[in-house]
Formats: sequence, structure tokens, C-alpha cells
Amino acid sequence: MANYRYPELAWIDAELEDLERRTLRRRLSDRVGCQGPLIAMGGRPVVNFGSNDYLNLAADPRLAEAAAEAARRDGVGSGASPLICGHAAPHAELERALAEFEGTEAALVFPSGFAANSGTIAALAGPGDVVLADRKSHASLLDGCRLTRADFRVFPHNDPARLDTLLKRATAAGRRLVVTDALFSMDGDLAPLADLADVCQRHGAMLLADEAHATGVLGLRGRGVAELVGVEDRVSVRVGTLSKAFGCAGGFVAGSRSLIDWLVNRARPYVFSTAMPPPVAAAARAALDLVRAEPEPRRRLLDRAGALRGRLSALGWDVGASASQIIPVVVGDPGRAVALAAKLLEQGLFVPAVRPPTVPEGEACLRISLTAGHDDAMIERLLAAMSDRPSSPRA
Ligand SMILES: *Cc1c(COP(=O)(O)O)cnc(C)c1O
Repeated sequence: MANYRYPELAWIDAELEDLERRTLRRRLSDRVGCQGPLIAMGGRPVVNFGSNDYLNLAADPRLAEAAAEAARRDGVGSGASPLICGHAAPHAELERALAEFEGTEAALVFPSGFAANSGTIAALAGPGDVVLADRKSHASLLDGCRLTRADFRVFPHNDPARLDTLLKRATAAGRRLVVTDALFSMDGDLAPLADLADVCQRHGAMLLADEAHATGVLGLRGRGVAELVGVEDRVSVRVGTLSKAFGCAGGFVAGSRSLIDWLVNRARPYVFSTAMPPPVAAAARAALDLVRAEPEPRRRLLDRAGALRGRLSALGWDVGASASQIIPVVVGDPGRAVALAAKLLEQGLFVPAVRPPTVPEGEACLRISLTAGHDDAMIERLLAAMSDRPSSPRA
């Protein structure tokens, strides 16, 4: 559809056509009904391997009840940013509970994980400082780094030695900040947090780890990768999200009292965005209580993910370096990824194709996201559908 009404936007049509030609154009498809292992999409039921609802809590009636109760008691909207008069009892309770869960002095809740990352990074570094990010860091981390206007570089994926070299070379007098996903969102692999913490310690650098996909899933208590590898005391800034395993929405930062007080004063998405709706805060609190009370779902999920990775590899698929519930099936060519996803969808299996720019050129994949809601029959169906690995590209 040409932009006949706003000719100054006509360039967009040309760009969209270009995306189309390269099989990179993306379109929305509407889900009908609740998030979960079985969803209705495009008018038909499909087994859903596309959500980040790792603990199957997004549609849990206990969360819905907590939200409904808070909506009646505290209202739906927050009506103001936290510093004005938007911070209400459910926010304070959630932040206390998150700090207790994380074993930190304090925690702060943002309207989204994206806002938590970008706002926190921009509050920690500025002109004259040095910021370094893993090349595969989430967009919210990279955008935050750009916002700092510091000397910003990326280091090769999971390469602490290279980070060390870059920090050695950084002669600027200012602060140093290193940021990384703890569990990478597309590859499902873990950051070497212990080695990164060593390097950071050597150079007096702050280390920010984004546990978005690990919170609620990894670690004995479900705190994430830093807990799993025992470096919580050496990761000074820990970010998590309430929108994935916790099944709600929002992001949080856990750390020292002074870090949190600084963010309250300086993190722009915190200061200038309306506080999270109270029903969401109440539901997240309920989810947190469930995560603390029930370790079994995350253990079972990780066991099943390990088994699925093994069987996909045995079928000849490349699952990369995944060590988690996020399992990429790397096919390389975007057209081939789309064709494979379409073939699975025909069989009632929704596995999203992930293409550049979400992943680097040549790394197009199907991203299987396993949740506690998938049963053995669903996993067997997926394996059966993927048992005839095409030896040549089908795109
Ligand atoms: C999803 C995601 C975020 C953003 O979290 P939202 O709560 O969805 O805004 C941040 N970091 C990573 C690694 C993510 O995958």
C-alpha cells in the first residue's frame, strides 16, 4: 500500500519491499486467548514453542486472582511516575520481596525489562567513561550503552580474554562498565560470569548481568546464572525481568541500597515513566512466591531441555552452545528458517524463525523455547516433525 497521503514517507514502502525480497519482512500474527503451551494462532490450535513463559505462569489463575484483587483495591493505573505519587503499596511490597529473593539490600521495579536495562546503564556511565558489551547482548543493553555517550565498544561473544585486553587499552580516566546477558536470549548459552567478574575486578569495572531469561529458571533458588555459578557477590548490578518466567511484565534491578537510590534519582525511564500498574506488581509478587515455594517445575524444565537438546543433536541438528531451556536450531539461511517454521506450523507446531537483525547474518535459526507447560507428548510431536532433517536447503 503506497504512501499516497504522506509522500514524505514513501521511502518506507521501498524499504518494506526490500525486506520482503530478502525474506526479512516480519508480520504480526494474533494469538487468541491465553498464553500457554497450547495456543490458537491463525485460527487453529498449535503447540507453542515460541513464548518466554518458562514456568507457565502467564495464565495462572493465582496470578490473575492477585491482579484482580489489586485492581479492585489499588486501581488499574498508577497515574504518575514513582517519584511523584505513582509508587504504591504493591510496588513497595514487590521490591522488598525481590530484594529478599535476590539476597540483596534493595531492588527497584521498572515498567519493563527494556527500561530497566537501558535506564540503568545510562545512569551508570557517561561521557569520559568506558562501556563494554558482549557482541550478542540484548538490544536493550546495547541501546543503553549508546545512550551513555561514553566510549562504547563491543567485545567478541563470551570472550573474557579479549575484554581484558580492551580494558587494558582503555586509558580514559572515567568509570568502567561491562554489560552482558547472563543467559543469551537467542543462543541459550551462558555468559562466563566468573571469568568476566575476574576481569572486571582486575580493572575496577562494574559488571551488569542481565538475567532476563534466567531469573526463575537457573540457580538453586531460581535467581539466575550468577547464583548458578556462585558469583552473586561479584556482579554488582543484576537485572531481571518479570515478563518471562514470572509470567507478568516489568523489569527489576537488584543490588546495594546506594545503587538503587542512585537509580531512583538518575534512571530516566524510572523517573519519567508512569509506575507499573498495581495489578501487575501484585501478580508479580504472587509469581515470586510461587517460584520460591516450588523449585520442582524449574528442575523438571531444565531436565527436559537437556534431553531435547541431546535428541535434536542426535538427529543431526545444530543446537549451538545452548545450555538452557532456549534451544536454537541453527540453519543459517533466513529463507530456509522460514520454510522450516512453515512446515512445522502445517503440523500444528509453532516454532518461530529468528532472522537478522535479531541474530547476526548467517545465523538464522528456529528458536525452540521450552516451558514447564510442555508435556512429553508435545515434545515427541516436535521431534517426530523434525526427524527428517533436510540435507539441502529447501528455501
Ligand atoms: C526480553 C528481554 C529483555 C526485556 O525485557 P522486557 O521485560 O520484555 O522488556 C531484556 N533483556 C533480555 C536479554 C531479554 O531477552
